[in-house]
Amino acid sequence: MGFSFDEDSIKGLNYDEAYKILLSSELKDLNRVFDIVQRVLCIQPHPDDTDVAAGGLVAKLARRGCEIVYATMTDGCMGTLDPKMYPERLASIRVSEEEEAAKILGVKRLIWLNYKDSELKPTIDARNRLITLIREFQPHLLLTVDPWLTYEAHSDHIATGMLAVEAMFFAMFPYINPWDMRDGLKPHLTPFIALYWTRKPNTYVDITDYIDLKFRAISAHKSQFPPERFWEIENPLKVYSRLMGKKIGVAYAEAFKVLSIRHLHCCPYTEDL
Ligand SMILES: [Zn+2]
Repeated sequence: MGFSFDEDSIKGLNYDEAYKILLSSELKDLNRVFDIVQRVLCIQPHPDDTDVAAGGLVAKLARRGCEIVYATMTDGCMGTLDPKMYPERLASIRVSEEEEAAKILGVKRLIWLNYKDSELKPTIDARNRLITLIREFQPHLLLTVDPWLTYEAHSDHIATGMLAVEAMFFAMFPYINPWDMRDGLKPHLTPFIALYWTRKPNTYVDITDYIDLKFRAISAHKSQFPPERFWEIENPLKVYSRLMGKKIGVAYAEAFKVLSIRHLHCCPYTEDL
């Protein structure tokens, strides 16, 4: 999938017509990404983010035979309102919870970067660790949080999205993190990225057959969603999934902004894709 557009395609059209054709030509390819990728690296801020935002997609990809890896940036140790819960204990509880959720969805491997919850920063160190992971796993797709979501207050989410897009972009350059090459790794170009919790989705995935599985995986995160208060996540998430479903005429859907790597640098129309 490359840029399959030339100036003849828009000759004789006015601006609005030409722009619409440019965008729809790009979207045609992007909408097929989830059908063709085989290796997916999910880079999440905390141990439950992918399951909540994209558990249906993950289950669907896993059942199609995709190899899926979760890389969790922070230890999740701050995710409690209970002053009697020790952060260290919570971090280890959250590892077990994510292991159980991953098994339900069909994720085979979990990687923990263990930055402290609430204090993740977009540093070169964190970016380079992701670059090494990308070169080791050689994904076709990154799945992560949209760092450009307006009104997002959680700095771990913004930092994770930024680190992921930067790592994706720089992993193909051999002189960035060059000691990877001494360790036998090769530069890697990840062709696609899918962003969740995005204001501008361009791809909707029918998760109707996977919604129960998704909620089973989410319910494994008992420290975040205790059974007696599970409705607090279940209700709004079901409403939102129904709403997204209406976009493609199904009961439940998840929404993503899917981009190719060339949309992440000097591309003035990425926002509109
Ligand atoms: Zn989070």
